[in-house]
Amino acid sequence: MDRDVKKEKEGNEREKDIEAMVACYQGFDPVAYLQYNYTPPRADFDRPDSIVPWKLGCLHRAFTEGDVGGKVLVDVGSGPTIYQVLSGCEVFDTLFLTDFLEVNRQELRRWLGGEGCSSLDWTPYLQHVCKLEGRSPSAWSEKAARLRSVVSDILPIDVHRSSPLQSSAKLPGAGADCLVSCFCLESVSPDLTFFNRALGHIGGLLRPGGHLLLIGALGESYYMGGRGVRIPVVPLDEAQVCASLKACGYTLVRLEVYTLPQDMRVGVDDVTGVFFVKARKP
Ligand code: SAM
Repeated sequence: MDRDVKKEKEGNEREKDIEAMVACYQGFDPVAYLQYNYTPPRADFDRPDSIVPWKLGCLHRAFTEGDVGGKVLVDVGSGPTIYQVLSGCEVFDTLFLTDFLEVNRQELRRWLGGEGCSSLDWTPYLQHVCKLEGRSPSAWSEKAARLRSVVSDILPIDVHRSSPLQSSAKLPGAGADCLVSCFCLESVSPDLTFFNRALGHIGGLLRPGGHLLLIGALGESYYMGGRGVRIPVVPLDEAQVCASLKACGYTLVRLEVYTLPQDMRVGVDDVTGVFFVKARKP
């Protein structure tokens, strides 16, 4: 077969892989997703081995070590959740939340719009992060107000595009000072090649010297994005995560790994662990 024709055929097949992924996400249900992943036992604040307190601890440490700073923070693939920016909102004055799906952006807008309107009560999360910061849990409403005040916009994003944000004009010319992204790249990519490419694409949103805080699933091949909505995931191990970061030119600052206790395996995915990465773009 002619080389150009072969290349075009491969390109069309890759395009189809992305379309299949997009089709899976059409059934994503933010309410079910929040229920599966952001309620006990996965979000049990009385248990230090629960997955959510572990994630919040990693993010708290990363944002308070003194090396992460600047003006603009971007959260890539926010989904319907805000836990991932509860520490960062104290460090950055401008925050962009982003997601591919309008239903998730709507869910985020509902929380931003006021109390009592979102599908999950984020109060225990706010209280927990206040405690990590050495504040009284009763300061949670101040933290909520702080977060609401720093969110500049909720933007559509597609990490499979070389310019993932349609409205990247809203970012400083050199890029954001910090990126956070949790459980996004591996759960929207058909395979490791797409994962690596997406990691490269989001790197374009970050200024040189800026930090990437990446949380993701280890050993996961699918998760449920709603009732009967099975979404394929790229099963990753630590070595692959490190190799992908290196290939994209990041300097690894720290990798932490959490192993899921048996009772956190609640049948909504087949995840075996979680990684947390702090990396720097040279
Ligand atoms: N960050 C949230 C969390 O920590 O729970 C949500 C993670 S959820 C597993 C994956 C998210 O990626 C969903 O919110 C989904 O809408 C979003 N997504 C799907 N396709 C995407 C794409 N092409 N680019 C960016 N985000 C995408």
